[in-house]
Amino acid sequence: MISNKIATKLILTLLLLIFSIVTFGQNLKTNHSIHEAVQLRTNEIFDSLVEIRRDFHINPEVSGQEKRTSEKIAKYLLSLGLEVKVGIGGYGVVGILNSGKKGRRIAWRADIDAMPSDIPDVVDFQSKNEGVRHICGHDVNTTIALGIANVMASQKEHFTGIAYFIFQPSEENYTGAKAMIDDGLFDIINPEEIYGAHIAPMPTTMISTKPEWMFADYKIIKVSFKNSDENEAIIAFTKELISGLQNIEPDSKFWDPNSLLDTNIGLGSPNTIFTNYVTVHQHFNIEKTANEISISNYIGSSIMKKLNTFIPLLKQKFNESIYAKQLVDIAYTLERANLYNDISLTTKSLQSIAAIYGKENTILMYGEMPDGRGDDFAYFQEHVPGVYFYLGGSNFEKGVISMPHAPNFAVDENCIKTGVSYFSSMLIERLIN
Ligand SMILES: [Zn+2]
Ligand SMILES: [Zn+2]
Repeated sequence: MISNKIATKLILTLLLLIFSIVTFGQNLKTNHSIHEAVQLRTNEIFDSLVEIRRDFHINPEVSGQEKRTSEKIAKYLLSLGLEVKVGIGGYGVVGILNSGKKGRRIAWRADIDAMPSDIPDVVDFQSKNEGVRHICGHDVNTTIALGIANVMASQKEHFTGIAYFIFQPSEENYTGAKAMIDDGLFDIINPEEIYGAHIAPMPTTMISTKPEWMFADYKIIKVSFKNSDENEAIIAFTKELISGLQNIEPDSKFWDPNSLLDTNIGLGSPNTIFTNYVTVHQHFNIEKTANEISISNYIGSSIMKKLNTFIPLLKQKFNESIYAKQLVDIAYTLERANLYNDISLTTKSLQSIAAIYGKENTILMYGEMPDGRGDDFAYFQEHVPGVYFYLGGSNFEKGVISMPHAPNFAVDENCIKTGVSYFSSMLIERLIN
């Protein structure tokens, strides 16, 4: 026989269990229907987004001159009912989508500038601005951000908090993000998390990212010493010292650009060869003044903070050498922020997209991209933890390959659908949970 007390306890526990199952079920259902609504809305606006993208493509503007582009962005955001701020760090634009309910504050960033390029475009909606072309896909990145703003605005009663949309100029010269921050961006908005995506040469249903670094750290090292009749010997000594920092063999597959996407050794493989490396350019730049000679070169490393250790190491080697007295200085002359993805947010955002759109479409990267590539999104991440994604734009069957800056760069516009739906869902999940 069960005592009354135990029976009451049992009933209470059962009730609690039933209640939590119901609540959990409701949550799942609600979330599920939101993501159905996201996909529906994305499909509804897709044709209009393609039109917007082509308009940007026909009217590209280089870094610092994105006047028309920014006006078009601001107008679109206003039409969605967002609060809009313009002229931040040049032609930077911010859209604020406030749900009116207390909650998390998150930001999405897109880069808006085009590049100087005389290479003939492969599409029939070519640039009207001679010598300027969207050859890095920022027309697509921008359009996707506008699409996300549209979709999220249509769902705003279903989430809490605030979504900010940052449209950043001058990414190509790595100055726009910093300019927006220096101009008070984070006095105007105060996101707790920041996300962004860039077109990349994967198929259009795929996105990828990795925790921590995605690109090698990249700097110019400069050694200067007093002019003397030992110049030639010192130049040879310096070149040998710096070249000796490289840890990749000259005959390595590392140097073959095709290796980057190789399934066994490429960036997406746990056995990637694009990790734990230090690279040194072959070409040294030598400058001579009346009193001094300087030798400089590009140096890159996928190992965090590794480059910081080289200056004291080289100074020590110089001081131990017969040229110690001639040494003036060893320093980095080009230093820039490097992208760093927050470990926990990378996992959470990837998982939420995988749960809705399929694990096979969310690729975890293992290696770090070499060659000094990067994105000044890194400057935002110095202030706000966040994640940067690659979004596939290629259609290999149609011969469309979205390798930024490549002469035949092109985009399968279906990637706009992927970008808008995946990232709207991900951001909404961050604002629900
Ligand atoms: Zn670019
Ligand atoms: Zn780019």
